[in-house]
Amino acid sequence: MSLIRIDNVTKLYQTGEVPVTALKDLSVTINQKSFVSFIGPSGSGKSTLLNLMGALDKPTEGKVVINNVDIAGLDRTQSAIFRGSNIGFVFQNFNMIPVLTVFENVEYPLLMLKHISANERRDKILTLLDKVGMLDQKDKYPNQISGGQKQRVAVARALVTNPKIVLADEPTANLDHKTAYKVISIMHEMQKEFGTTFIFSTHDTKIVDEAEIIYTLEDGVIVNSEVKTNN
Ligand code: ADP
Ligand code: MG
Repeated sequence: MSLIRIDNVTKLYQTGEVPVTALKDLSVTINQKSFVSFIGPSGSGKSTLLNLMGALDKPTEGKVVINNVDIAGLDRTQSAIFRGSNIGFVFQNFNMIPVLTVFENVEYPLLMLKHISANERRDKILTLLDKVGMLDQKDKYPNQISGGQKQRVAVARALVTNPKIVLADEPTANLDHKTAYKVISIMHEMQKEFGTTFIFSTHDTKIVDEAEIIYTLEDGVIVNSEVKTNN
């Protein structure tokens, strides 16, 4: 079933005299429970596309439908609520809160969801930290763990609200190759285990092999798509 539908989307940024076309009449459909990567050089439109998929921005032309909601119709507050209940984010620079422990960083998005009891919250956090191999580090602060470990925590934090979609914009950009590959593998394991749709972007051609579907972007256009059948 299609979870995200991008229909003939164009995105223009009007900053200076000349508008920049970040995406050009782009269409793509992403199914539930898939593990998808967008690859392409810097400036090819990866972040713009992921921002649209995360209801962080709106297209100039065309339609973006996420989980049956046309995001064009949402105001700022509605967009925020929509993101909170449907989407988890993993960022390039980890975005940990430095004064909170690993446990508390994962807890943070759950505190917005009032219907979850403290016990339930604790169970969820510990389960996810265990899955990403960070349970024994739960009382550490972000400056006491490595970049790869921070990104594992970020994956746990993205999943803790049971979102339908996890969006990771260049999640491995600040990691060495081996660590990057591990983080992508963990995302893949989580996708299989929870059935969450994972979408990540990268310009690293080596780690992209882990994805099941790979789209290549160039100048705001999808120039190639590849579907893997062996994983
Ligand atoms: P990528 O993530 O692949 O590096 P982006 O989506 O960030 O690509 O950028 C695509 C194009 O849009 C680039 O030419 C970039 O300079 C431009 N762009 C992105 N965001 C903005 C913005 N907020 N304002 C103006 N131009 C932007
Ligand atoms: Mg980018």
